[in-house]
Amino acid sequence: MMKINTNLSPPKEGDLFKIIKLHGSAFEIRYGYYEDIDRKYDPVEIYPDFIKHPIYTSDGFPFVTLMQSPCEHFEITSDGSDQDCGSCKYMERGDELIAVCRCLKRKLR
Ligand code: SF4
Repeated sequence: MMKINTNLSPPKEGDLFKIIKLHGSAFEIRYGYYEDIDRKYDPVEIYPDFIKHPIYTSDGFPFVTLMQSPCEHFEITSDGSDQDCGSCKYMERGDELIAVCRCLKRKLR
């Protein structure tokens, strides 16, 4: 008889979610909290803050998260619904919620 794993406990703060390797960088995504007020819930995957700490691809384009607040070059896609990088025509999907901004105005010179 097949045994079903019933030990699906929620992740703990600090547990590794995934290591995302993309365009010359590696991002270690761990579970945690963005705000102290969230501590009454299960921890969530914590993504880098690329606005505070910009990181660029090996060819000079900035990494963004899909939920990142848009910059002044934001242009919504035809099917976009939100005001975030995930709905911008310059966003190139990466892995999970990490993407690359392909806007030439934001490229390193
Ligand atoms: S994807 Fe790039 S151009 Fe678009 S809003 Fe985000 S940072 Fe700005």
